[in-house]
This record gives sequence, C-alpha cells and structure tokens, in this order.
Amino acid sequence: MTDSSPPAIAGRLTLHLAHPHPLGLERLKGIGPKTAARMRERGILDQLHLLLHMPRKYRPTYRFWPGQALLERRASFVEVIGQISHVLPPARHSRAPLEVRLQVDDAEFKLIWFNLAFPGFVKRFRPGDWMRVEGKLDHERDPPQMVHPNFEILRGEETRAPRTEVVPIYSSMEEVRDSLLPPAITQAFELLHADLQEGLPAHLLQEHQLPTLADALRVIHVLRPYDDLERFRQELITARNRLIYQEFFDLQLALTERYIAQRRAAQAPRLTERTLGRELLKKIPFELTGDQKKAIATIADDLSTRVPMRRLLQGDVGSGKTVVALLSAAIAIANGHQVAILAPTEILARQHARNAHALFEALDIPHALLVGSQPAAERRDTLARLAQGDLPLVIGTHALFQNEVRFQSLALVIVDEQHKFGVDQRDSLLAKGQDPHLLAMTATPIPRSLAHAVFGDLDLTLIREKPPGRKPVRTELRDRSRAPKIYDYVKERIQQTGEQAYFVYPLVEASEAAANRRSVTEEAERLANGPLKGLRLGVLHGRMDGAAKDAVMQRFANADIDVLCATTVVEVGVDVPNATLMIIENPEVFGLSQLHQLRGRVGRGSADSMCILIAGFTLTEDAERRLAAFVQTDDGFELAETDLSIRGPGEFLGVKQAGLPEFRFGDVLRDAHWLQAARQDARRLLLGDASR
Ligand code: ADP
Ligand code: MG
Repeated sequence: MTDSSPPAIAGRLTLHLAHPHPLGLERLKGIGPKTAARMRERGILDQLHLLLHMPRKYRPTYRFWPGQALLERRASFVEVIGQISHVLPPARHSRAPLEVRLQVDDAEFKLIWFNLAFPGFVKRFRPGDWMRVEGKLDHERDPPQMVHPNFEILRGEETRAPRTEVVPIYSSMEEVRDSLLPPAITQAFELLHADLQEGLPAHLLQEHQLPTLADALRVIHVLRPYDDLERFRQELITARNRLIYQEFFDLQLALTERYIAQRRAAQAPRLTERTLGRELLKKIPFELTGDQKKAIATIADDLSTRVPMRRLLQGDVGSGKTVVALLSAAIAIANGHQVAILAPTEILARQHARNAHALFEALDIPHALLVGSQPAAERRDTLARLAQGDLPLVIGTHALFQNEVRFQSLALVIVDEQHKFGVDQRDSLLAKGQDPHLLAMTATPIPRSLAHAVFGDLDLTLIREKPPGRKPVRTELRDRSRAPKIYDYVKERIQQTGEQAYFVYPLVEASEAAANRRSVTEEAERLANGPLKGLRLGVLHGRMDGAAKDAVMQRFANADIDVLCATTVVEVGVDVPNATLMIIENPEVFGLSQLHQLRGRVGRGSADSMCILIAGFTLTEDAERRLAAFVQTDDGFELAETDLSIRGPGEFLGVKQAGLPEFRFGDVLRDAHWLQAARQDARRLLLGDASR
C-alpha cells in the first residue's frame, strides 16, 4: 500500500460522545447479560449502537377518543373507555367465542374472546361496568370489533383526555422480548443525549434546515408525545434526512481529505512541454470533437502542475477516448518521462499498441507491449528498456502489475476501462513512479451521484459528444424462430457491402449445465457449414492463447474475415469501424452495461449499423426489463441509470469496485440530492471551492 491508497473509507454513520460514558448494554434496565449477548450478536454492541437501531415502523395509537371519531378516522390502534352493554356467552359446549358489547360514547364496539368462555372469565364482565380496552380495531365488522384486547375493569367512571400517540415498532430480535427495546432505547437516550457530539457544523444545519443529532434521534425514537400525526410525519422525514446527510457528509469529508492529502505531499513531475502533442495532432486523420479538445486541454493543465492528476474520463462507447489518452501520453513523453497504458484484455492492449504505432512510429518514439503471453526474451528486453528509461511508452495488461516491472521515471498512468480494475490494482501501478499522474477512463458511465460516492477523490471529465457522422445503432429484439431470416439478412448484406459482423455467444463450448445457452465453438461451425456458408468466419474466445487471439483480431481488423464469432472478450474497447452488425445470442444472460458495451462495437463508422438480439424462449421479468430498456435507447448514461435502478449500486459496480461504501441510512439513488449537497459542502469546507 502506498500513500495514495489509504484503507477503504467506511460509509456508515457512527456516534461519538464528548465525554466518556459506560456504554454496556447490561447497564440498561431490563437487559441482563443474556439479552445483551444476543443483542451483540445482532451487531448492537453498546448503548450508542442502540440509539442507531431504527424503528421498523410507527403505529399511531388513539387514546380515549370518542367512539364515533375513531370510526370516522378508521383508527386501528385504539385505547378506549366504555360501558358494557351486553355480555353474550356462547352456549355450553359450543365453539363460539365470548362476545362483549361495549358502548363507547356514541358508538358500539364488539369485543371477542376465543376459547376463554369458562365461567370464571365470563363472570368478570357485567353489564353496566366500565372498562378500559386497548387493541386493534377491525372496521370491516359491524359493529367494529376487537379480538383479545388488553383490558381492565374500572371501579368507577374514569375520564381521560383524548390524545394521539406514536409508538415506534422495532424489528424483533430472536430471543429478545419486543417490549424490552423501547424502554431501553429511551433510557440510553436520556443517559447520553446531552453528551452526543453533534457532528455537523451549525451553519450547514441551518442552511439545510436540519435538526441537531440529538433532536433527530429524539423524533425517531418518539421520545415525546405527538398529537398531530402530520407534524410527526414531517419531523420524522427531516430527522431521517439529517442522518442521511450526515452519513454522506462524513464520507465526503474523508474523501476530500484524501483528495487533499494526495495533492499536498506530492511532487508530481511538471509536464509543460507540449510540442509533441501538437505534432501528433497533425497526424490524426480527423478533427477532434469539442469535448475531446476540452478534455485534452484540462488534462494538459493538470499535467503542468506538481499536484498529481487524478482524473476520471467518462465517455460513452465510441466517443473517442483513445486519442485523448494517446495525446496525453505524448505530453509526458515530450517531457522526457515514461507512460504506462493499462488495458483489461490482451486484445485491447494489442489494439492500443497498433494505434500507438500508427501515430508514434513516424515520430520515432519507441513503445512496447507487455502482456502475459509473450515470449520470454521479448519480455526481458522490454523490462530492461523500461528500467533504463529507453522505452517511453508501455502498453499492457495485468502483466504490468508484476514486481519485475520497473520504470526509470513513470510520470503518467492511463487506465483504460478502469471499472475492470480494483482500486488496489490501479494504485499498485501508480506506486511504480514518483507521484505519477493518473488518467482513468471508462465507457461504463457511472451516474453522477454514484461517481461522487465512490470516486470522491477523483476529478471528473465527461465526453458527451460523439464524433461527427455517427448514426444511432438500430436495435432489434427477435426470438429464436426468426434466426434463419436474420442469418440470411446478414449474409446478403455482407456480400453486397463488404461490411463485417460480430456474433456473440455466452459460452465457449456447449455445456449440459447450461443447455439453453449457445456456444461460440458449436455455433461458428454450424454457421460456417450452413446459414453463412461462403463467408469467411473467425473464432475468438478467452481460452485461446494470446498470439492466436491477436492473429484473429488482426485479420478481422484488416477485413480478411467477414464474421467474427466471439464470446464477450470483444466486449470492451475493440474498434473495427467497418463492422456494422452485432448479433447477440442469448442476450438475456448479459447485463445491461455489458450489452451496451457489445453494441458499442458497431456504429463506429458512418454506415448504418444494427444490433440484433436473438433471445431465448423464456425470459425472466428482470431480463425483459433490461432488454426493453436496451432496445429503447442507446444513450449509455440513460442505460447506466436504468441499470443502477434495476441492480442497485453494489451489483452495478461489481465486485471489483470495493470502493463503494455501505450506508446505513442513505441510498445513493433515492437520496442523490443529499449526496450532491454533502459533496459540495465538504469541498467548500476543506477546499474553499465546491466546483471541482
Ligand atoms: P472509445 O471512447 O470507445 O474508446 P475509441 O477511442 O475506440 O472510442 O474511438 C472510436 C472510433 O472513433 C475510433 O475508430 C477512432 O479512430 C474514431 N474517432 C475518435 N475520435 C474521432 C473524431 N473526432 N472524429 C472521427 N473519428 C473519431
Ligand atoms: Mg476504448
């Protein structure tokens, strides 16, 4: 671990006290060692944890209201005082319940007891007596009834003032009596609230009109009577918002501190010389888009200071991030330093190497590839030249993380498809230089809210604009019965236009365990001998060795192959503009962002492109939602939002993104605006500037 990778930051809110208190659960009334142990098993370790144990719901209870008023409000939990009008014991040996009629002011209620109609019990009810009764009122009956209510026979007529109360209901804990929690929490609150550290600056509470921590907890645990339920509802919302905001704010403070720490101590190389970039620009066969120019200008600015750049470049598939990366690399190289470009697959690393070659060759800038499947001699040579500083640019896969990989002066690390890597991996590469700059790129756009939660320590740049002349990819969802027609169409189109196609399958080889999924090996053979006979087919999947993969990819890029049958190894980064057809078999087994990445392999030139999904026969509800969303739009940002809402943040980011904090109160989607506010406030507080 290096300075740039502090331990993961916890997202969960914790409470702190201004003065030490004994916090053992056993100190609370009614909680013995056994109960305390059971609570600890459930993660409630002490009294502070108990204060953060939230009610599952609230129950309004109407006390001593007049009968008719209760009926009008359809109040369900009630406590009433009334006079017994009739007692109707069941006939002997009958299974009918005991029924008692109670006159509550102007309304009649029916009280019911099953299996309790023994004489001693029945005798307790005498017409004319007064009773206090508490329980759930069933309005569907006539007269409205209560089953097995708590009750008390009163001596004389007692009158009490009508009022409403809110009762918190905590989720039950196994082997902990439900009735223990409310008084224990009340007691803990009374003991601790005066010493609770507030945690939020007063001006922010005021600005957002939020209550103090103690007040918020008081509302949440209902430690004062409420008559007005609407007022309670409002106060509860603000109280919860307060906790949500604090949770986000704490996280953003920590992230901002990390952001500052990374910049303070650091001595990144100042990269001010830019001629090489300008030379390179002349060699690029197209005009950069406005967003590309802006991105490069921002990066060039970042690189010119001692503060190491930490920038995440987000741009939809095909938006042209590679050229931005190569121009950034050129700046570092022009200043006499080294650059490492990291790609998640060998196919992509090799493609970048080809692109770099096309640009850098004429300028006499050496570069090399470093991937797992290289001949040892080639690899040794590359390592030696890197260590001596003779090699300004290296492009590689995970092979770059290895210890033997050393640099003379690594000034810039570029991580392509950065969502495919963990934070630690990224940092292990950064550790190979002296505070190098970082440019991370991703085509899985992360919705802004989530980006802020996870990448609070990165600056964000967006490329929204696509290169000119791009047409939207037409997307169609077809079922298996239409496959023959689709194959005919593909064949005819390729023969007429010379365009190329991808066929993507979920499996490498047929598997009994997944009988309804198609495999690339089987299908390629079937297509070659049948529906696509006469076309030149190639096969590409992860079990092939590096050189073989590269050879196939190279032939596809040169248009020596018409149809590339592949697994999702072509998912990221692959760029062959002449390919216009993307056929995906069993699309129902792929995730939304994966589908979007696959579709992004076409529509890279100016010809009309199509993406055809050949779905299995039965789709789950989730799969249907995904595919419907996918057909409807090809805007990656929109799809990312949908994906996030279907899968939730954890799944959306995948296991690699260990960076996502777990929140106790906040929900990154639902509470996005609080997250945004928290980020701005934290940055304003520590940086004096919220805009970065
Ligand atoms: P991605 O953002 O998905 O990595 P690439 O960098 O692979 O996209 O670019 C996609 C394709 O668009 C490439 O063929 C690239 O040469 C081309 N391209 C990039 N920028 C432009 C531009 N400004 N004008 C025209 N074509 C461009
Ligand atoms: Mg790319």
